[in-house]
Amino acid sequence: MGASSSKTGLLIVLVGPAGVGKSTISRQLAARTDVSYTVSATTRPKLPGDELGKTYDHISREEFFRRLDADEFLEYAQVYGEYYGTPKHPALDHLAAGRDVLLEIDVQGALQVRFQYPQALLVFVLPPDEQTLLQRLTSRARDSAEDIAKRFRAARREMQMAKGSRAFDYMVINDTLERVVDEITKIMAHKRNVGIYNGH
Ligand code: 5GP
Repeated sequence: MGASSSKTGLLIVLVGPAGVGKSTISRQLAARTDVSYTVSATTRPKLPGDELGKTYDHISREEFFRRLDADEFLEYAQVYGEYYGTPKHPALDHLAAGRDVLLEIDVQGALQVRFQYPQALLVFVLPPDEQTLLQRLTSRARDSAEDIAKRFRAARREMQMAKGSRAFDYMVINDTLERVVDEITKIMAHKRNVGIYNGH
């Protein structure tokens, strides 16, 4: 072996419908492991209750497209009419320095990552059932009824697509936070070991 000093970090991509609990899982993973998570840029305006979920760099469309033209995004997507993108830096610097990086993005973004970084670990988070997802979306008290319905329809489409796709390495169920975080931590450890044996 002996190659561990030159080993790049693990790129973990958490995907799943809005309201499935990705932000809470990410925070727990960051608390339990050395993984760094990135701040995405978005054209979506700030919403009440945003502080409770994922943190964003809220920017204008002009600024988003300037950064896109300047090739500053690792991946990006349009979700519910707004743009979201992962900045290349500091994510790529962390990976090069051997540190693990966690991205919390949508399916379209995950597929771009799969294409550009085939060694990335793609994990799709499912709710225990559709009713639980609807309850979680409603209890966020952040979106209008119309937005909730839109996100719920999109979630169903995303879950269908993910189940039929071979792009994801693992599908996990967010039944209880403790259990799912445990499962993802084990998956990450397994992937690191496999990576070492494969010489990545
Ligand atoms: P929300 O506005 O509810 O925070 O996020 C809406 C959707 O955009 C979620 O599915 C979330 O995972 C996704 N998203 C957040 N940041 C990014 C990003 O940087 N890239 C992509 N592709 N999707 C993102």
